[in-house]
Amino acid sequence: MSEAVFQQQPYLASLKSTITAIDGQWLELAASIFYPRGGGQPGDSGSLQVNGVTFTVLDTQKATDGAIRHQLSDENHGLSPGDSVAMQIDWPRRFRLMQMHSALHLLCSLIPKGVTGGSIGEHKSRLDFDLGEHSVDKQQLTEQLNALIHSNIPISQQWISQGELAANPGLVRTLSVKPPENARMVSLVNIQGVDVQPCGGTHVANSGEISELRVSKIENKGRRNRRIHIVFAEPQI
Ligand SMILES: [Zn+2]
Repeated sequence: MSEAVFQQQPYLASLKSTITAIDGQWLELAASIFYPRGGGQPGDSGSLQVNGVTFTVLDTQKATDGAIRHQLSDENHGLSPGDSVAMQIDWPRRFRLMQMHSALHLLCSLIPKGVTGGSIGEHKSRLDFDLGEHSVDKQQLTEQLNALIHSNIPISQQWISQGELAANPGLVRTLSVKPPENARMVSLVNIQGVDVQPCGGTHVANSGEISELRVSKIENKGRRNRRIHIVFAEPQI
């Protein structure tokens, strides 16, 4: 098992660790800041330095046993378990993903209906809602989202037991992404006074860190479902 350092320290962009296992182009490390794809959030990319040589990490995934697996661009890397590595995530990309992920939680707070799907991208993201008779307006949602951003609301993470979560079923807003049932503790993302929900993703620490957003499109997906797309108001570099 790799220590998932990003859970406690989502702002850490570099870290030293050791290779614990290798399977072709996939590496496991004793500790990692690379977020493995999950919960709608893409896996991190970045690089590893070993003995002065730089290796590119294309993607990060979670194995069924919970190990964090880092995908190198090349299978002929010559690395071995026990090698010391200095890792760096592609921070600008991760920070865009953190902003987008937190923004989707803000969007969720504005629409009191079930979420049926979603996807986080570094430039555009979407959430699907089972809206029923509830109506939404692009311009109004855009204004509400940016009002929350400009309110500089603290976003924090706390851990609760599965039992506590089971006793509060209202915390689970997302119908399609269930919190992992085998985990002893579940991470809750708390946007103070706005939204609390189980989520294992990485988030900004304050809504004011999110760049201005725009609801770019609202699509009909069946009679009751609407797909709401958001983008940054200004392209983010
Ligand atoms: Zn989330």
